[in-house]
Amino acid sequence: MSAGPTTDPFAGTSPTAAPAAGAPTVYLETFGCQMNELDSELVRGHLKSLGYRFTDDFRTADVVLYNTCSVREQAENKAYSRLGLVGMRKKAGESVILGVLGCMAERDGADMLRRFPQVDLLCGPGELDRLPALIDNVRRTEGAAREERIALAGNKSRRSATLAAAEDHLELLDLSRAFEPSEPGAERRSAYVRITRGCNKFCTYCVVPNTRGAEVHRPPDSIVEECRRLVDAGVIEITLLGQTVNHYRYTHGLAVDSEGREQPQVGPGLAAFRQPVADDGRTTTFARLLERIHDEVPGLERLRFVTSYPRDFGDDILDVMARCPRICRYLHVPAQSGSDRILKAMNRGYTRAEYLEFIDRVRRTLPDCTIAGDIIVGFPGETDEDFAETVSLLKAVPFKNNFIFKYSPRPGTVAIDRFEDDVPTEVKKLRNNLLLDLQTEISARVHAEWVGREVDVLVEEIRDHGTGHEAAGAAETAGNPGESRLSLSIAGADHHAQHTHVGAEKDAHPASKNVEVRWVRRQASSARPKGGVQAVGRTAGDLIVAIDLDESVAASSDAARALVGTMLRVEVRNSSALLLRGAVSKTALARFNRG
Ligand code: SF4
Repeated sequence: MSAGPTTDPFAGTSPTAAPAAGAPTVYLETFGCQMNELDSELVRGHLKSLGYRFTDDFRTADVVLYNTCSVREQAENKAYSRLGLVGMRKKAGESVILGVLGCMAERDGADMLRRFPQVDLLCGPGELDRLPALIDNVRRTEGAAREERIALAGNKSRRSATLAAAEDHLELLDLSRAFEPSEPGAERRSAYVRITRGCNKFCTYCVVPNTRGAEVHRPPDSIVEECRRLVDAGVIEITLLGQTVNHYRYTHGLAVDSEGREQPQVGPGLAAFRQPVADDGRTTTFARLLERIHDEVPGLERLRFVTSYPRDFGDDILDVMARCPRICRYLHVPAQSGSDRILKAMNRGYTRAEYLEFIDRVRRTLPDCTIAGDIIVGFPGETDEDFAETVSLLKAVPFKNNFIFKYSPRPGTVAIDRFEDDVPTEVKKLRNNLLLDLQTEISARVHAEWVGREVDVLVEEIRDHGTGHEAAGAAETAGNPGESRLSLSIAGADHHAQHTHVGAEKDAHPASKNVEVRWVRRQASSARPKGGVQAVGRTAGDLIVAIDLDESVAASSDAARALVGTMLRVEVRNSSALLLRGAVSKTALARFNRG
């Protein structure tokens, strides 16, 4: 809390209280994946509905919350340093509630309370619905046993398919979700919808099955309804989220509440995906779910999903993608390695040949589908021969981009106990950079194929040339002084990359994860017409496009900014490894000028 409050900012609030004047302020920062972003959005909505106000300044907030990620060491270290900063506020005598949410809270549990005594509460991803009660509890029980301030239940989601799952309170949190056009970023009209929580795959390098628990699938009616409400509120692009979306499967009649309403249910074992699904209407597969959303929410212009798992991706899904024009032809399908030996050690459950067979099917059914991947280099035991297999896999698939990471052991994973981290750091770096160079070449080729074509671009950002900024080329490196960054990151688009590359750190490279499209100051010699405006957005295939807007569009910067969240038809004129560049198509321009 701000130093020396004259009134209790929590007075009049409880987990069920209505908004009150002078309500406590909350600072919430999110690390990691899209799942975490969605969780934070839900937490934010929940706390706001109870009267909390949000602030961008952790130094004055009454409650400081960090929604953490334990997949990457870098994100963890950032979170730890934030805890130190809030600790300094406490040392200075300020009254502030500090909470750690998400995967680090779940993994470290009470150990975190011991190591960071300034932390007041921990709340795992499986108990976020209880967060208001925990905050309230901290306030009311200052000095009481700190262990009572923990709500960690990721693994409790390993429930029976019927009874306990029917008591899933997290579902209520998802269902309570509202799209507020006034929220920052809402103008992009793009939203996430969760279809599955948790994961059953147990890849040896990954902590997610432990922190987020077993796969729990939401009822299809709830998902369709959530999409419909978002579209009614102005959303035009929805990304369905799950760790392995193609393993979504809901059996009707298994999990219902006392009033007969369907509830989330645990997913079936892997063997189920090798059996044919009876055509009796009792089961909603991922293909059927996609088709339902497409057909029942006609106002939705783009439907995306991440992340796909390379095994059990049926032709039924590809057929639905081919049939339904508003389902984006884009797949993020991590290979992780091209070596069967390493895939087995990773417990990925497929072979190199199976991965390539899947890609062949994709390309036969959806020739214009763009494909993104993930690769880990330097997994324990990876030899030069294994790495050569990965290189050849990359050469065999036209990946638009690959999120490439160097392996490092992460606490809570199987790999940290089972394997020695025996690939030297220098070798990892070398392999990482070799793949990055190769991927840059592949990305440049993939992008070049789009030159001369027209694409629909959903605009995410507008930049003025008059401010002295322009879109950076592919080879720019991040972090130079004087740059302002555009928050359009390739990495930010994909949750799974965060989850799969346990502990691996990125190198600054155009094809690496976390590459950002940035804006750099122009040199005086490269003058551009003053007042010019550029829009940046994405194609349905998730290709980033920088659009030089015609003067007639750009004449009013207000009018240009109103393009954010709209679809522009764009002629692609050139390309790089990182993005396409183009101009609004003549037909679209004519329409704009008429209108
Ligand atoms: S890497 Fe992906 S599929 Fe494997 S355990 Fe982690 S979340 Fe599940």
